[in-house]
Amino acid sequence: MLLPFPLEDRYYRYSYFLRKKFGTKVYKIGVDAGFTCPTRDGTLGTRGCLYCNNLSFSVDRRKGLKSVKEQIRESIEKLKERKKADKFLVYFQAYTNTYAPVEKLEKLYAEALSFKDVVGLCIGTRPDCVNDEILKILSDLNKDYFISVEYGVESVYDKNLDWAQRGHDFKTSVMAIEKTKRYGLDVAAHIIFGFPGETKSEILMSAEKINVLPVDSIKVHNLHVVKNTPLEYYYGSNPFKLFSEEEWIEIIADFLEKLRPDIVIQRLIGEAKNNTLVAPNWKRSKSWILNEIRNTLEKRGTFQGCKYNID
Ligand code: SF4
Repeated sequence: MLLPFPLEDRYYRYSYFLRKKFGTKVYKIGVDAGFTCPTRDGTLGTRGCLYCNNLSFSVDRRKGLKSVKEQIRESIEKLKERKKADKFLVYFQAYTNTYAPVEKLEKLYAEALSFKDVVGLCIGTRPDCVNDEILKILSDLNKDYFISVEYGVESVYDKNLDWAQRGHDFKTSVMAIEKTKRYGLDVAAHIIFGFPGETKSEILMSAEKINVLPVDSIKVHNLHVVKNTPLEYYYGSNPFKLFSEEEWIEIIADFLEKLRPDIVIQRLIGEAKNNTLVAPNWKRSKSWILNEIRNTLEKRGTFQGCKYNID
C-alpha cells in the first residue's frame, strides 16, 4: 500500500501534511472573533452543548476581547520569536465562526488574510451553520489561500448527538461536508469518543462512516468532563465510565487501523486546562500518550489504514 506518510510515523500527522504542503513549518493561530452559537443565543438553546465549557462563554472573559487583527499580530510576533515560525494559518476557533451576517464574515476573514505570513484560514463551525453564500465566499478565498472548514460532527450516532444536546443530527454533518467539498474546500471533522454507553464496536464503526465522506482531516478527542458545563452536573449525579489512558491508547490504535490512510490526523486526545478538568484524571502527558499510540501501532506492525475496507 502506498502511504501518504512515512511508515515510521504510523499515522498521517498534521505537522507532516503542513510541511509537505507549504514547504515550511506552519503554525495555527487560534482567534476568538466574538461569535456565539445557536445552542447559546436561544435559537436552539441557551446553555450550550452538554460538554462545552461555559466558563469560556463568560461575559467577563470576553470583556476586553482584542480585535482579530490584534490577536493575530500578537501571536505572530510571539511564534516568530519563540518557535522561529515562518507561516501561519488563522484558526477561527471559539464558538461558531460562520454564525453571523455574511458581510461581517467577509470582513473578518479578509482581516485575517491581510497579514503577509498568513497562508490560510481554518474555520471552526457547526454543520447546521453554513450555506451556499458562505461557502461561495470561502471558495473564492480558496483560489489564493488554503481554506479549511472544521465541522463539529462530534459523533456519527444521533443518540450521542441528542444526549449532548447538539441540536443537529449526523445527516446534517454528512450534507454539510459533501456540500463543502463540492465548493473545493478542505474539510476537517471533529469527533468525540466515549459517550455514555458507546461501545467499542460503535467507535470502530465510526471509522467506516467517516471513510466514505470527503473528509481531509480529523480531530479526535475523548469525552471529558469540564467544570461549569451542564455535563459536570450530569456527571455528578449520573457518573459514567470514561476512558482510562491505557484504554484510550488501545482504542485509538484500533480506530486508526480502520481509518482511510489519506485522512490527516490533527488531534488524537482531548485537552482541557488543568484547573477546569473534572474527569478523567489522567496522569500522563499528552506527548506520552501520543507516543504510546505510535508505539502500540509499531509493536503490532500496523499503521493508519492497514485495515481500511477490511471487515
Ligand atoms: S460545543 Fe461548539 S456549538 Fe456547542 S456550545 Fe460549544 S462552541 Fe457552541
